[in-house]
Amino acid sequence: KIADKQVAEWKYAACGYCSTGCSIEVGLNADGTPVASRGVADADVNRGKLCLKGIFEHELFTSAGRGLAPMLRNHWHDQWQPTQWDTALDKLHDEIRRVQAKHGPDSFAIISTGQMLTEEFYTLGKLTRGLIGTNNYDGNTTLCMSSAVSGYKRSFGSDGPPGCYEDFEHTGCLIAWGSNLPEQHPIIYWRMKEAQEKSGFPLIVVDPRVTMLAQNANMHLTITPGTDVVLMNAMMHVIFKEGLHDQRYIDANTNGVEALRTEVEKYDPVTAAKICGIDEDTIRVVARTFAKAPAAMQIWTMGINQSTHGSDGVVGINNLALITGNIGKPGGTSLSITGQCNAMGTREWSSCSGLPSFRYLEVPEHREEVAKFWNVDPEFFPKKRGMLQTDIYQAMEAGQIKGLWLIATNPMSSLPNTARIRRAMEQLEFCCVQDCYQDTESAQYAHMYLPAGTWAEKDGVMTNTERRINRVKPVTAPPGEAKPDLWIFNRVAERFNKAGKVNFPEQAGDIFLEMGQLSKGRLADISGMDHALLEQNRGVQWPYTATQREQGEAPPKGGKRIYTVDGTFSYPDGRAKLIPLPFIDNNEVPDEKFPVWLNTGRLIEHWHGRTKTGKIGNNNKYSPIPFIEINPDLAAELGIQRGEYVRLVSRRGDAVAMAQPTHRVPKNMVFLPFHFHDCANRLTLGLLDPHSRQPAYKQSAVRIETIADQ
Ligand code: SF4
Repeated sequence: KIADKQVAEWKYAACGYCSTGCSIEVGLNADGTPVASRGVADADVNRGKLCLKGIFEHELFTSAGRGLAPMLRNHWHDQWQPTQWDTALDKLHDEIRRVQAKHGPDSFAIISTGQMLTEEFYTLGKLTRGLIGTNNYDGNTTLCMSSAVSGYKRSFGSDGPPGCYEDFEHTGCLIAWGSNLPEQHPIIYWRMKEAQEKSGFPLIVVDPRVTMLAQNANMHLTITPGTDVVLMNAMMHVIFKEGLHDQRYIDANTNGVEALRTEVEKYDPVTAAKICGIDEDTIRVVARTFAKAPAAMQIWTMGINQSTHGSDGVVGINNLALITGNIGKPGGTSLSITGQCNAMGTREWSSCSGLPSFRYLEVPEHREEVAKFWNVDPEFFPKKRGMLQTDIYQAMEAGQIKGLWLIATNPMSSLPNTARIRRAMEQLEFCCVQDCYQDTESAQYAHMYLPAGTWAEKDGVMTNTERRINRVKPVTAPPGEAKPDLWIFNRVAERFNKAGKVNFPEQAGDIFLEMGQLSKGRLADISGMDHALLEQNRGVQWPYTATQREQGEAPPKGGKRIYTVDGTFSYPDGRAKLIPLPFIDNNEVPDEKFPVWLNTGRLIEHWHGRTKTGKIGNNNKYSPIPFIEINPDLAAELGIQRGEYVRLVSRRGDAVAMAQPTHRVPKNMVFLPFHFHDCANRLTLGLLDPHSRQPAYKQSAVRIETIADQ
């Protein structure tokens, strides 16, 4: 009860967990201690509401395990020794240059996160690309969003989700592919449900598991894991065959329809139904419902992205949208629901995948533009993107990468096949972990620890799923000697930038204005925005240009789309690409030795590796231990009782979890939440999507053993 908390002052921020982008106020008592959180009533996104994580977010500031001082040690077997910031930062500079001199510039890797603020990504990108000069720089967003990025780029010529939440209010049909909104993005679910109650649009859920969203669906397609592209092709087969496509839109706005038609011709509903494990008539009904709706919308999350063909899945969704004219009109969109609070910010500004504001290393003009703007030598930039995170760990294991700066991410918990990541971390000559918590599983392998501020101990912005840039203001200061990530990057930059050739502004507001200058004329043009405008409006969707502002045009309220119904895609000719997708069945599948599918996913109570929510009593008490959902028939066959601990075994390792029999999973599948350390990712498969390099967390094979068998 907020009334009992004796709040003396409320401070504004945007939530630091998921990508919904809720506006939040944190209440401080008379001593300045954060004691309460509440939703902001006049915010477009959440209209006063918060989910279970947001409601207890103020507990983050006082949670246990926060790092209070920089630490050093010679070897990760040794005890940590506290040190001064200057000593630690000098050593970080020296170790980066030592490793690069000994093993080559790209032998030092930097991995960041979707958890930081955008000005911090931008500054780290300038430091990495402009001064440090390694091409092996990536973010942990490779684990959740790189398939969406890759799919958007292949279809539309650029990354950037075209739709917005307001599309729920205009749509005539919604397909959710591998997305469980009520648990993963509860406030987006509330927006969707409210819109559906008004207009009654059909909700079609494609998911092998009976998720909370599936329980609310008009149709639920429990397809065999990994067969989503077959279903998409079969739906297009029906749409073309029955003349339900939008020929005018296809002719005006796309290339490649003939090749697509030839490919989907092979996927008749009878053949596809056998592969997907569903009824052929269901495919026809879904295809017709989608194509006949005046406007139809598709959303997806990790069920599509985290697959060996995640990028193809995204292209398939875009193909369906394009052949039915469902990009650009209200209620017609393909909207990737992103994962982390600022996953979109990394995509726009981090420089992980290239250069800021959706510029690419492969494009000479982009290199020239950014080098000139930053006052660095364009020849210093690599000519193509380096390794993505998943490849970086493989290179570490192979001894090609010898140094690592790990920022606000925890691969020992979040990467698939933990045993392999452990071997990779053990190979490093030098590892620096920068995090708000000192006790992360990955910090066990570090030689240096830098204590960072968390979420609203810092100043800046984040971008949400619908491209809305939200303001985050410091609610309180970081504890002890901990510093905001921006402060740390600027101090490291000073050591690489002794002549002061490159400008590194100290204040987040000034950095944002610099980013706005660099964004002029780009798809994500933010030159009309500043921090004050963002706070006043409770977030503004990009683009909003300086010209719009000068001409007195107010920032968009409600919802905004980035493509119109008349083309304007990012390929040079303004047309989108329709891309044929032959089905490649390259997943691990159950067999005699490992007969059960392992499906992984999130719970409403927790966030990622529980580095945060595992320390918040009110989140942890509802879900304190790892469990599996197991079909009651399979449990009975194996003699497993409710509440009994079982051992899961895959080709990579084993894990123990409590059995929860439920009909939410079919008899040949178990579901295991991925949040718990030393659990799901001991089992998961490290296979990668060839386009996005995103791991296939969702589809692997296990066997179940009772502990009594041991
Ligand atoms: Fe935070 Fe997401 Fe919950 Fe909103 S829905 S309060 S952004 S965790």
